Amino acid sequence: MDHPNTESRRADSLLPNLYLEPMARNLERSLALQKRAEALLPGGVDSPVRAFRAVGGEPPFVVRGAGAYLWDADGNRYLDYFGSWGPMVLGHAFPAVVEAIQQAAAKSASFGASTPAEGDLAELVVEAVPSIDKLRFVSSGTEATMSAIRVARAFTGRKYIIKFEGCYHGHSDGLLVKAGSGVATFGIPGSAGVPEEIAHYTLALPYNDIASVEAAFEAHRGEIACIILEPVVGNMGCVLPAGGYLETLRAITLREGALLIFDEVMTGFRVAHGGAQQRYGIVPDMTALGKIIGGGLPCGAFGGRAEIMNLLAPLGPVYQAGTLSGNPLAMAAGMATLQHLRQHKTEVYARLEALSAMVADGITAAAHEAGLPVVTNRVGAMFTWFFTEAPVTDFASAAASDTALFARFHHAMMEAGIWLPPSQFEAAFLSTAHTEADISATIEAARNAFAAIEVNA
Ligand SMILES: *Cc1c(COP(=O)(O)O)cnc(C)c1O
Repeated sequence: MDHPNTESRRADSLLPNLYLEPMARNLERSLALQKRAEALLPGGVDSPVRAFRAVGGEPPFVVRGAGAYLWDADGNRYLDYFGSWGPMVLGHAFPAVVEAIQQAAAKSASFGASTPAEGDLAELVVEAVPSIDKLRFVSSGTEATMSAIRVARAFTGRKYIIKFEGCYHGHSDGLLVKAGSGVATFGIPGSAGVPEEIAHYTLALPYNDIASVEAAFEAHRGEIACIILEPVVGNMGCVLPAGGYLETLRAITLREGALLIFDEVMTGFRVAHGGAQQRYGIVPDMTALGKIIGGGLPCGAFGGRAEIMNLLAPLGPVYQAGTLSGNPLAMAAGMATLQHLRQHKTEVYARLEALSAMVADGITAAAHEAGLPVVTNRVGAMFTWFFTEAPVTDFASAAASDTALFARFHHAMMEAGIWLPPSQFEAAFLSTAHTEADISATIEAARNAFAAIEVNA
């Protein structure tokens, strides 16, 4: 599929190949901006992992993106492998998305009244995601999972929830128990400020371990409202569900009268058009979405069967609301993104699969050539290189990774103009804007990085 940003890439390819020569990046302006930000924002950031604490070094301040590339305040160019942590599946400043946002903005940024756009986007989501008959839009993934759990508790009349260690479901109190993502990156078990009484109702179990789920239902029979999980985990790095794992969770929840909630904030419209539930053929009771469905604007959604969703006010007793929920700009960006994905479904997901395999396998081979231990987990355009020897199947095996080695790799790649997620415990993403030439350059840069790491080891 030809990406509309091909022209700008052609221009880029006339530039000297920045990947092969050390760039000796100048980060002067980013450093000054970081200094100012640190005086105003805790850690200089609005979301902790942006501060690069896990990998060291200075976080570049981004001023522009186009296709697969980012530019920082000092004019350095980077090939982007974190895609705003998931949303930018079509690359940056995708023309149809930009146009949709501009047109919506010209008609006012918000009304606080119903708009046709909400129904338009809802139709596209319901058509694509097998488990969703009805949904409600919110403004973040955090709100989506938090509200889904409230509904699940109301539907079942039960208090306990099961989550899995290393899965991240946003930063609401009851879900910050053994959460992945930034919580894993900073090596803290939960968060200060979450009362024990709230954490008490969250049972955190190891991922891919059915015995512990059975034991929890044994210990709390009739008290567990739901199991919530990332059907493919992205937030302890990429970890796949073992064969039969999702099927068994589906069977257990049906047997126990608990709801199964798939948190597809990351995997929705990424690992397949219909998300992990389509890819693995398991239909949960409820699904949380975010990231891609907002096309880069703040947006989330949660949905499920009508009998469950009809518990929400104004139909039912579960209160949930939002001043900016279903915001017209977010709906417009989401529409442009989902329309493109729907229209080019076959090519988009085949291309993401093929190019992701190429970069994931290419870098694995380069690491092995250099004698470095790397385990690669990948599902579609979502993957992680773990610097460890043993298979990574849960949080304990992910946490066994050599994070110091990852940090050196990350730093060397940044110097080469390739921006990987700044933590061993965050998945990398590809967009449709990445090309084979980008992938080859990335593998070449990794080869050089591994050689340098070896020499310095
Ligand atoms: C990103 C993420 C969230 C939180 O979404 P926010 O929009 O950051 O609140 C929840 N669940 C998963 C699986 C995520 O990847």
